[in-house]
Amino acid sequence: MDAAESDRYELDGRDRALLKAAGLLLDKLTAAKILRPAQLASVAKLQHVFARLPRVTSGLETSLTVSGPRNKFGEVETWHWWEVAVSETCLSISSGGHFYRPSTGGDSFATMRWDITPGFAADFRDYRDRLQIVPDVKAFPAAIAAIDFAARTYGVAVNDPDNPLLEEDTDEKTEGDESVAADVVDTGKAIPWLVTPLDDAEQRLAARVNAVEVSQHEAQYAYNIETCDCCGCLLNERGLFVDGSLRSQVMWANMCAQCFEGEGVDIGWGKGQLYARQPDGSWRMVAGFCPPDKS
Ligand SMILES: [Zn+2]
Repeated sequence: MDAAESDRYELDGRDRALLKAAGLLLDKLTAAKILRPAQLASVAKLQHVFARLPRVTSGLETSLTVSGPRNKFGEVETWHWWEVAVSETCLSISSGGHFYRPSTGGDSFATMRWDITPGFAADFRDYRDRLQIVPDVKAFPAAIAAIDFAARTYGVAVNDPDNPLLEEDTDEKTEGDESVAADVVDTGKAIPWLVTPLDDAEQRLAARVNAVEVSQHEAQYAYNIETCDCCGCLLNERGLFVDGSLRSQVMWANMCAQCFEGEGVDIGWGKGQLYARQPDGSWRMVAGFCPPDKS
């Protein structure tokens, strides 16, 4: 390819529609004023790339992942994510989600993937025809149009190794006692997470969380969590719970932090998993992961 070909993307109508939707996601996100200044700096890089299209911007390595709230359809629970990324001169847009129903368990799925490099036609894969069991699967532009950052809670993950401000944000949160958060993660599929202890017993449990370990594992969730099996307290009013074995019985139980200190064995593979309640109400595993050699 010659220079004239390599400094522009070859876009057709479908490509332009997807890029317009991705640009809308960036614009909605910045307009919602929910990003921290460090995240805004990286999202602005993506906006710069989009503003210059079809011209090529090179030298950036930035991705943004937005994860949506949980949706219930009878016993089925879903949530979706959308990602916009630039890696050198390659632009990509993708989406996927997570599906759960009690009878079959949970599974992650890809909805679509589009990427383009200068001088080549875009590669586009639409997996929606395989996703008939997902009740709210949508085409990317329709899904972005339906996002309302003001009405519901969304997660945002920004990955940008060339933005040291993101690391400062994460460092400060990790050092503070109140919450631990991961905003910079190695893979575009990672979803931001939080640990928010609400009392002293939960604070002691939160100390067992290793932020690096959480970010190294794909997000895993506990479902249909209602009450502590020991004291009957409502777990959706708590920040953490343990699904673990009991000292007195062979059974496992869901335990609030206080009951775990009295009845639980430990946090660890084969002993107990620690879950933290997320802003959208989901329960994400934050300690007690399967060791790498056993998974
Ligand atoms: Zn309890």
